[in-house]
Amino acid sequence: MKKTNDPSTRIFDLLQFGEYGDVNPSITDSATYTFMQAITMSETFAGLQEGCYLYSRHWNPTNKYLADALAALEGTESAWVTSSGMAAITSTIFQLVKSGDHIVCATTIYGGTFAFLNNYIRKFNVDVSFVDITDLEAVKKAIRPNTKIIYTETMTNPLLQISDIPSLAKIAGENGVKLIVDNTFTPMMVAPAQLGANIVVHSMTKFINGKNDCVAGAICGDKDFIDALCDVNNGTAMLLGPSLEPLRSSSILKNLHTLHIRMKQHSKNAMYIAERFREYGTKLIYPGLPEHKGHEVLKKMMNPEFGYGAMIAIDMGTATRASKLMEAMELEGVGYLAVSLGYFKTLFSNSGKSTSSEVPEEIQREMGLSEGLIRFSVGLDNDIERSWEKIRHCLDSMKE
Ligand code: PLP
Repeated sequence: MKKTNDPSTRIFDLLQFGEYGDVNPSITDSATYTFMQAITMSETFAGLQEGCYLYSRHWNPTNKYLADALAALEGTESAWVTSSGMAAITSTIFQLVKSGDHIVCATTIYGGTFAFLNNYIRKFNVDVSFVDITDLEAVKKAIRPNTKIIYTETMTNPLLQISDIPSLAKIAGENGVKLIVDNTFTPMMVAPAQLGANIVVHSMTKFINGKNDCVAGAICGDKDFIDALCDVNNGTAMLLGPSLEPLRSSSILKNLHTLHIRMKQHSKNAMYIAERFREYGTKLIYPGLPEHKGHEVLKKMMNPEFGYGAMIAIDMGTATRASKLMEAMELEGVGYLAVSLGYFKTLFSNSGKSTSSEVPEEIQREMGLSEGLIRFSVGLDNDIERSWEKIRHCLDSMKE
């Protein structure tokens, strides 16, 4: 059978079943593992025994099933799953930098990542330059001899800018720097590692799990990097310990198998809503619309079957108007006024006052983040026309 470029088929092709032939892989509900020979234990600690489990902070068989499925999703050699998206991001970055190093990072990224890089990591004498990631000349100029990482998101949070991953990978490669891409907003749609990124991170809390019942993350990369992360002497994942609970891992794996269907429906619904907002005259950002600055770049990188994603941002001008609209939409039953994304119901929040509130207000204005920006994660609604009617009714009520 020839190799497939379809991420959902790569996951489908995995032969993962349980120890009694259970169609769902068995859950290994154990922190530690027994050995019949003491020598095997010491060899496992020395990294000489592939496939032996020693302790669940290091590896757990249930987590391995999920990690293998994520490696299949992203087309990487290996992967490791974490207790949150932030754990995936911070473990990856700490694995790659030491005191005195430098990182080049997109200015518009998730607020928690921004806070980690702008505030926290500086305690370890690691310097960070924030740049407009769509300005490739600015990225090149920001690189210094001690730069170790270029960090970005495929579709940035919350302004939905598009990172040109092949061009960024070229810049990274020419400078001996690792390109890390957070693909949380665009699973299935874009496979950054296939476009040259060295490491792909995810908040599985969002689309991958899709149920909003847990936080979880993933790191996808080559085998050497993932092995280094889990090294008992020096691995950040092993030593900081952000392991995912295997019971949770098992339920995420089951949800991952419907991700391809969900992404198509999210994208279809979001395109419908974006077009209606445009007709209504609302100022909006949706990468699926041809007038979006990154539309052509995304088109070149994406797997068209999965559409342009669930994320839309609209600008209500002021925070007061944004609050009024969000409260009206919640009462009307459009969805929930809540942070996060990738849920089966539509979620909306004012980014500047919530998930990007870690970004100082003057930087928010500089990057073009309006105080009235509402970020939507459009849900799986079967009758999206009805959902739009509700939104339109709320918009109309704002005029009164
Ligand atoms: N990356 C992105 C793009 C996010 O939006 C978030 C959370 O909103 C995270 C990472 C952090 O993930 P978690 O909340 O699972 O730690």
